[in-house]
Amino acid sequence: MFGKVLIANRGEIALRIQRACRELGIKTVVVHSEADREAKYVRLADESVCIGPAPSAQSYLNVPAIISAAEVTDAQAIHPGYGFLSENADFAERVESSGFVFIGPRPETIRLMGDKVSAKEAMRITGVPCVPGSEGALPEDPAEILRIARDVGYPVIIKAAGGGGGRGMRVVHTEAALVNAVTMTRSEAQSFFGNPNVYLEKYLENPRHVEIQVLADSYRNAVYLGERDCSMQRRHQKIIEEAPAPGIPTRYIPRIGERCAEACRRINYRGAGTFEFLYENGQFHFIEMNTRIQVEHPVTELITGIDIVAEQIRIAAGDRLRFRQRDLTFRGHAIECRINAEDPFTFVPSPGRILFYHPPGGPGIRVDSHIYQGYTIPPHYDSMIGKVIAYGDSREQAIRRMRTALSEMSIDGIRTNIPLHQDLLQDARFVEGGVSIHYLEQRLAAKGEVKQAS
Ligand code: ADP
Repeated sequence: MFGKVLIANRGEIALRIQRACRELGIKTVVVHSEADREAKYVRLADESVCIGPAPSAQSYLNVPAIISAAEVTDAQAIHPGYGFLSENADFAERVESSGFVFIGPRPETIRLMGDKVSAKEAMRITGVPCVPGSEGALPEDPAEILRIARDVGYPVIIKAAGGGGGRGMRVVHTEAALVNAVTMTRSEAQSFFGNPNVYLEKYLENPRHVEIQVLADSYRNAVYLGERDCSMQRRHQKIIEEAPAPGIPTRYIPRIGERCAEACRRINYRGAGTFEFLYENGQFHFIEMNTRIQVEHPVTELITGIDIVAEQIRIAAGDRLRFRQRDLTFRGHAIECRINAEDPFTFVPSPGRILFYHPPGGPGIRVDSHIYQGYTIPPHYDSMIGKVIAYGDSREQAIRRMRTALSEMSIDGIRTNIPLHQDLLQDARFVEGGVSIHYLEQRLAAKGEVKQAS
């Protein structure tokens, strides 16, 4: 096992990784920007290194500074967390060529999955079902593009091969709008992602977002840890996640899960990963793979009893998976609410100083957060400041526990989206389970109209 791991991230996930290291007896180095100097998790780490000023481009994305922090502290491995450099194949390569272990997949796997066109192609070959669409990137010839879209059937969605974070996508309903939409998406893709390739998919009108968590070691052993439903989204950003996915017949999961595990064996995947699907009319359609730990991993941890971050570290250290598929059982139900420092209704970010903080607790409640009373949330980064996760024997119990937890929680001095969560936890359709990815936005739009009318 490693003696020392460097954590190349910030906030709640930097603390989460630190906790896993502690439990494994590994010393930690946390790198931080000037804006995060005072954060408590930075002081809790065995060592910390300031790697630059507040803007991420000069700190959390500063590859030479991170590598030299690993050198001066004698760390053996680097955990990238999520976001920032976690899915940057060039970074993973730099880490390994500098003599450190990258806690994640091989750089070539990150590259393969980072390009959505090559990722879909790899999935097609390994037998993972994909959204119907163009085979590979769209050609230049407009007539050919029109033919492809006609075969797929409208509406279609044009997506950037290098896209991410919900950007670089355009829905097209009519043939008249197609060629222009392709041209626009291409030029956006070039300027956002440095890759003009775009592809086309059938636009699914009422899908759910259901994803499969996998773990694979360096010896082609792979398991799936069940599914998560992350359909409650705003602007393609997840806000509530749960496991298992309500209402999906239990026999469907082993089938798709085993396909994902088999794909991992075939592409020689290493570490934790997530296969994201759109689920509609009983069918799974692959959209992309995330080659890193995800924000929503705790719900899977609670229903499986597996510490996914600790397993990532063990796998990176060269260990074999400690369980086979038949050793795994899924028990109970878990729901996660992402707590964001933002106005609950306008979504405007609300950084600043936390004047009073009272976290919830009690049976089945887990809080993953780095905040505390007196902490100042810097304005430079993502607005997520923590996650509340509720576990119960049943979904009903998890929902009841979450409602109680949120009613106990107080965060004063800034605005948070807790009121939105409280509202959603009372929503009849959410309580019933199985809303589509469009549900939250449709609901917000409807409420906005009511507000304007009154
Ligand atoms: P990103 O990498 O930017 O997150 P994804 O490919 O994962 O992009 O898609 C993000 C979201 O966009 C999905 O969760 C879904 O809400 C929507 N989306 C993507 N592809 C389709 C599709 N073919 N039909 C309908 N919605 C889609």
